[in-house]
Amino acid sequence: MCTICNVMEEETLEHFLFVCPAYSSIRLNYIKKYIINVTSDQRLIKLLKIDAKQKVKDLFNYCVSALKIRAFIVNKQTFVSNSVYEIDNVNYMN
Ligand SMILES: [Zn+2]
Repeated sequence: MCTICNVMEEETLEHFLFVCPAYSSIRLNYIKKYIINVTSDQRLIKLLKIDAKQKVKDLFNYCVSALKIRAFIVNKQTFVSNSVYEIDNVNYMN
């Protein structure tokens, strides 16, 4: 199961790229435009078909941003489970 959200799905590449709500805002910036009007069984093929330099940049930026968010959430979960800090008000997008 994806430990970053509460969707109760495996943390697959599809989940990471298209589903996980933790990354929805950056998904809008970097990925959404490439999968408009594409069915869910075609979106991975469509997105990973490298037909533009900008798409590679967008994919890179999505991954970098998503992994920062992911690390933040994992660290936060660790802090909370250890009862060390409550950092709910920290804005991880800065
Ligand atoms: Zn998730």
